[in-house]
Amino acid sequence: IVCNDTSVAESVAIRDDDGVGEVTPVVALGVSRSRLEWDDLVVKPGTGTGLGIRSMSRFRGNDMSLVQAIEEEMLEIENPITFDDIASLKGAKELLNEAVTLPLLIPEFFVGIREPWKGVLLFGPPGTGKTLLARAVASMSDIRFFNCSSAAMTSKWRGESEKLCKVLFQMARHYAPSIIFFDEVDAQVSQRGQDGEHEASRRFKSELLSQMDGIASGDASSGKNVIVLATTNCPWDVDEAMRRRLEKRIYIPLPDEDARTEMFKIYLKSLVLDEGVDVRELAGRTQGFSGADIKLLCRDASMMPMRRVILNKTPEQIRQMKLQGQLDSVKIPLLRDDFDKALSKMQPSVSPDAVARYEKWKKEFASE
Ligand code: ADP
Repeated sequence: IVCNDTSVAESVAIRDDDGVGEVTPVVALGVSRSRLEWDDLVVKPGTGTGLGIRSMSRFRGNDMSLVQAIEEEMLEIENPITFDDIASLKGAKELLNEAVTLPLLIPEFFVGIREPWKGVLLFGPPGTGKTLLARAVASMSDIRFFNCSSAAMTSKWRGESEKLCKVLFQMARHYAPSIIFFDEVDAQVSQRGQDGEHEASRRFKSELLSQMDGIASGDASSGKNVIVLATTNCPWDVDEAMRRRLEKRIYIPLPDEDARTEMFKIYLKSLVLDEGVDVRELAGRTQGFSGADIKLLCRDASMMPMRRVILNKTPEQIRQMKLQGQLDSVKIPLLRDDFDKALSKMQPSVSPDAVARYEKWKKEFASE
């Protein structure tokens, strides 16, 4: 394998029995020889060359199965969504753009006094869209997203959690701009010294903290930014040292009436509604509901027409009805009564006391 004399090979000619082919983009970091070995190369995932990913010199000495596992299980590219799929939360979207997306995409602007945050925390009641927001950020092109929420991953590497963390940050820097994402970070990085804290998770935590300090002093000017993004429903349980490093803390509250209206529109858009159904009115009646609660409510209500029609019918009768087109959803609109029934069975999943606790934590620690 031969490349020109620069330290970064943009493309490499590969010769095999069939002749010579050009493969781009191939990155060979830290190599200043004209002759490369297989192990010097890494083919960026998603380029579809079919060559597979080979180790590169910088990772040499690391456990290659670990590198591969991180690439396979943590480098997330599935099910992209956009901010438009998320109702409301305008302020949070703007803050995320400013704190995460822009510093990664135009690092040259975010230097000196504009130095980017090294860590951003989304906190608030469960089911308010924190994970959705992170997924939308992850879906933006040109940003690599390392999802460290995989329980399978962390338990598999439990004995080597420090190493996992080290290699993870190394890879994030290599693939930069990158986001390292911790969903429910309170569970992974809980308050120090809590009972039953495993030695392994303690070591993982210390390594994570020191890696995050490494981000701060490192890479801004090189344009190779890495940002840690985390979410939590229990901000008071997040380890204090970790909290300090998650400098930008954004509150994601329960949706207000306008936001709930928007959510009803999103969730009901593919259904047929009777004239008596008014999404504004529904939003008014669902004070205190989270986004997840509203989704559940819509789901339950959406089943009602079917339940109404097939009540007390045998499977054979249902089959006949289907053949005759009587189960066509167009013919079975959702009624106001369906929502009444669904609503009567539901309570908001977040209590007013809990909301007060979030507001209090926000006053003390949020950075807006
Ligand atoms: P959490 O804040 O606990 O991370 P999620 O982001 O996982 O909550 O949201 C749970 C579910 O609730 C989502 O899958 C989505 O269906 C719904 N949801 C919550 N907030 C919103 C929102 N702002 N817009 C649309 N759907 C939402």
